[in-house]
Amino acid sequence: MKERNRNVQIVMILAIIAAAFIGNALIFSALSTDALRVSAETETNMLSSVLVEGFESHISPDDIRAGTISREMVDSFFQENGDSFRMRFWITDADGNVCYDSGEADTRQRPENVPENGVLFWMGRKNVFYLAQDCCIVRPLYGGAFSLTLIHQGRALQAVQRRQLMLLIGLDFILMGIITVLIVNIIIKYRREIIRYATTDELTGLRNRKSFNVGFREFMDAEHIPESSLFLLDIDFFKQINDNYGHAAGDNALRLLSARIQDMIRDKGGFAGRWGGDEFIGVLPLDGEDALAALSELCRVMEASEPEEGFRMTISAGVTPVVQGVTLAKLSEKADAALYKSKEAGRNRASLYRGSVVPVMELAGAVKSKVEKAIVHAESFVIPQKAAERPRTVAARPGTHFRERFMAYVREHLIKSTILGVRWMAPFVAGGGILIGLAFLFDAASLDLSALPLATRARLGSITSTAAVLQQIGSTTFNFMLPVFAGFMAYGIAGEEAFMAGFVGGYMTIDSHSGFIGAMVAGFAAGILTSEMRQFTGWLPKFVRKAAPIVIYPVFNLLFMQLVSWLIITPVSKAVGELLTALLTFVIRKNTVLAGTLSGMMMASDMGGILNKVAYQYGIRGLDMGYTDVMAAVMAGGMVPPIGIFLSMALFRGKYSEYEWERGPGTLFMGLSFITEGALPYVFTDVFRVIPCCMAGAGVAGGLSMLFGCTLPAPHGGIFVLPVMGRPLLYIVALGVGSLVTAVLLGLWKKERKNS
Ligand code: GH3
Ligand code: MG
Repeated sequence: MKERNRNVQIVMILAIIAAAFIGNALIFSALSTDALRVSAETETNMLSSVLVEGFESHISPDDIRAGTISREMVDSFFQENGDSFRMRFWITDADGNVCYDSGEADTRQRPENVPENGVLFWMGRKNVFYLAQDCCIVRPLYGGAFSLTLIHQGRALQAVQRRQLMLLIGLDFILMGIITVLIVNIIIKYRREIIRYATTDELTGLRNRKSFNVGFREFMDAEHIPESSLFLLDIDFFKQINDNYGHAAGDNALRLLSARIQDMIRDKGGFAGRWGGDEFIGVLPLDGEDALAALSELCRVMEASEPEEGFRMTISAGVTPVVQGVTLAKLSEKADAALYKSKEAGRNRASLYRGSVVPVMELAGAVKSKVEKAIVHAESFVIPQKAAERPRTVAARPGTHFRERFMAYVREHLIKSTILGVRWMAPFVAGGGILIGLAFLFDAASLDLSALPLATRARLGSITSTAAVLQQIGSTTFNFMLPVFAGFMAYGIAGEEAFMAGFVGGYMTIDSHSGFIGAMVAGFAAGILTSEMRQFTGWLPKFVRKAAPIVIYPVFNLLFMQLVSWLIITPVSKAVGELLTALLTFVIRKNTVLAGTLSGMMMASDMGGILNKVAYQYGIRGLDMGYTDVMAAVMAGGMVPPIGIFLSMALFRGKYSEYEWERGPGTLFMGLSFITEGALPYVFTDVFRVIPCCMAGAGVAGGLSMLFGCTLPAPHGGIFVLPVMGRPLLYIVALGVGSLVTAVLLGLWKKERKNS
């Protein structure tokens, strides 16, 4: 019956999942049809703008008028724009006379069914969607003096769109798969939780009475049961424990006894539960004598244990051999009789019922009066009390020196508030980073990168419209990362009044390129400033004090943050940037491997800050000048930190929290996509270990990339641009070695986590 119910449940869950998949596929295909239409139109328009620009900059109106346009001239800008599409175009003057006709490609005539300035869509057999069969674009040239008409043949565009559609569907199914796994997981967890609630005694964690009954029935239903005994035990004078020390102490005593019963069960086998109040019941797979010995030992253990200083507790027990076929009610009656005998004989002992109840064991000196005395005279048992409220900020203590107060801030608030900042920031890093990574994936997978010119490749991640949308949402999300961190860090230090200043301070780091260091400074400064302001406004009259959080704090905090940015963060960032650019220029002339190492290390040093930016810009300048090796080293340096941290977590699980590990897959994906900031959540909580280890690995990867002569003719993309790289296999080796260096160094250096 039970089995059938379970099968029905499984079938229902599978049916729901299948329905969800089918429903999703239907909705998805409807939505993506529309999305792709927009996407194709955008792309077509973008292409025509590029063509008009190219035409206007390469061919003058005089050339057109004189009819001196050569095929070479036309090809020159087509090639420059990396256009591998076949198209036919012609130029007409204001009167509609054709001044130039490319006269090539398959379409000799403008097809009747090709709409002007639009894209034609067909729904083909079995509702398969065919995109952009052909389109005709008409654009004015030289402010309308001429016009450019071109027939864009659909097949090439179609291929791009199809690949994107396949990717979208693939991703959609992966997402659905993940959601399904999550839902199933939740259901399983929930079910387990319900079973646990229904069968476990909340206070002690042992089986509850009902669950013990069920367990006992199953035990007795077996064909052959081992020789066993049933025991009942009860705490002596438990009421007095409650009366003298309070119920909380009584609860602790119950928990302690349960833990010892569990130890016994672990040791001897069997099962046990809470029978009610201070009474426990259990089965031991031992004969009567051995079970009696085991329970006498438990009595001794309990007498010797001291739950709290000066506090002792004894128990009494009764045992009876289990006879197959006899009900639990009958057996427990006998065990209860034995228990009663133990109580009667002076408690703190176990008795065995063997037809007639025999109190076998008598523990010396365990008389009622002594036990009572021990309980009554124990004075130092401490009932846990609610910890006294700590002062909200350390500064509130009068007469403390500023330096001491500052150090106290650091100790009390920095770590806690940093963790708080990271917790709030992490979703922005993951969400933004993964979307940007997907944008690279989309472009790289749907375009032939090697056919594109450098200028177009530089826009990788926003060339196709799907990628551009992903890139835009990703970048917007990413921009919130540091403000959110700094805001919540300030909040952690000084409460909600500090949040705004921290948030704005964090935002300022985006323009000043001061990266995570700037965000930490901003969050910390906003926190301290608010605390100090609170001291200051404490002096003011009440009505002003009330208005302070709304009027005074924001204004002063903002002005102060702006001052910090102007006077410290921006000039320091600028000076450091200039110095390092000069240093890199110098080093690269001397030794390219060293330059690769240095730029790799810089990429990993402040992850999105000024050093990172200088190294990256250096790579870009190299690309402009035709050197593609620096960019490869720079990208390796930027990819290593997240990959290395992921590897470190995989190799040294005990040194990372569950929370850090859960973010691992996202971190790895960001590393592979060259989004160094993916490492930031790990950096903030352990700056002094993570940064040096990341720099070491990134330096190794950058240096090796240079040494191997790897080249990268695109400024983004991570592993998605491997197809256009020079020596990609060696590049993977450089990345692997660098990441391993980071992983191992970090793993060895980090402290083992205490499992609390
Ligand atoms: P005896 O040696 O004869 O067993 O004396 P006793 O005081 O232990 O008497 P009894 O076993 O009848 O007392 C049971 C007490 O346990 C009564 C009730 O107040 C207390 N109790 C029952 N459940 C709980 C509980 O969950 N927590 C606490 N703190 N006390 C409980
Ligand atoms: Mg009792």
